[in-house]
Amino acid sequence: MSRIAYVNGHYVPHRDAAVHIEDRAYQFADGVYEVCEVRAGRLIDERRHMERLKRSLRELRIAEPMGEASLGVVLREVARRNRIRDGIVYLQVSRGVAPRNHGFPDPAVRPAVVVTARRLDIAAAERRAAKGVAVVTVPETRWARVDIKSVSLLPNVLAKQAATEAGAFEAWFVDADGLVTEGSSSNAWIVTAEDVLVTAPADLGVLRGVTRTLVVEVAARLGLAFQERRYSLKEALAAKEAFMTSATSLVTPIVKVDGQMIGDGRAGALSRALRFHSRDAAERGGELSSPRMAVLTKD
Ligand code: PMP
Repeated sequence: MSRIAYVNGHYVPHRDAAVHIEDRAYQFADGVYEVCEVRAGRLIDERRHMERLKRSLRELRIAEPMGEASLGVVLREVARRNRIRDGIVYLQVSRGVAPRNHGFPDPAVRPAVVVTARRLDIAAAERRAAKGVAVVTVPETRWARVDIKSVSLLPNVLAKQAATEAGAFEAWFVDADGLVTEGSSSNAWIVTAEDVLVTAPADLGVLRGVTRTLVVEVAARLGLAFQERRYSLKEALAAKEAFMTSATSLVTPIVKVDGQMIGDGRAGALSRALRFHSRDAAERGGELSSPRMAVLTKD
C-alpha cells in the first residue's frame, strides 16, 4: 500500500510530497509541529495537542492555518488513508513560502501545512518498556524557548545521535548547574527513595509534554506523591527509578544513565504501573478504570 501525505490542501503520494525551497521551515526552521499518537485507529489526546499547537503558533505569531475541527479532520484522514491502527500522525505548520528575508513576510503569506503518518511497532515498544532503556547525558545547548514546539531541533538531533552511538535509547540534557531538563524528544522523570515522582517544571527550559500532563493526572488519581521541581543528575543517579514520557514512547522505564544502573537495574514498579494506567487513561479519553491497580503492581 502506498503512503499518503497531506501538503497544503492536497492528499498526495508520500514519495511525491514536497514543499517549496523557500518554505520558511526549510530556510529558517520557522515552523512548529505536533506528534500525536494513534491507537486502535483513534487519535490520543487530540485536544491537548491542538491546544499546544495553538500556543506554539501564538508565541511565534504564525497564523492558524485552519480551524481546529478542520485540522482534526485532516489528521484523521491522513491516519485513515495510511491505514494506521497504531502509530503516529505528524503535523507541521510553517510561516509559509516567501523570498528569503529573516523578518516576517510582509504582507503575510499563508502558513504551510504538512501532515504525515506512520505505523509504530507496538510489540517492540512493549519489549523495550519491559526491559527498560539506557540514556546518556549531554550538555544543554538549546535556546531558552524550548517550551515552543518548533522544528528547530538541531541540538536534539545531535543529542539523539550521541545516544544512538553510545548504544542508548535517549539522551538527557543537563544544564550548566548540573540539573536535568528533559530528553531529546521526551520529558525526564525520577522516582525518589520515598516513592515521590519528580519532573522538571514545564515553564521555560522544558516542553510541556502532553504525556507528561497525562501522567501528572494519572499519578494524582492514583494518590501518588508528585513534585514538580528541578533535580540534578546526581539525584537522578541515586534515584529508585527513572522513566521518560512522550507520545511515541508513552511511559518508558529507564534503567541506566551514563552507564550507571538506576535502582536495581530493572524497569521500576511505579514506572511500569504508570505506563499501564496512562495507556488505559489515554484510551478512555482521560478516565482511569482501576485506580488501585498501581498499588497492586507496586510489589
Ligand atoms: N520534550 C521534547 C523535547 C520533545 O520533543 C517531546 C516529544 N514531543 C517531549 C518532551 C514529550 O512531549 P509529548 O508527551 O507531548 O510527546
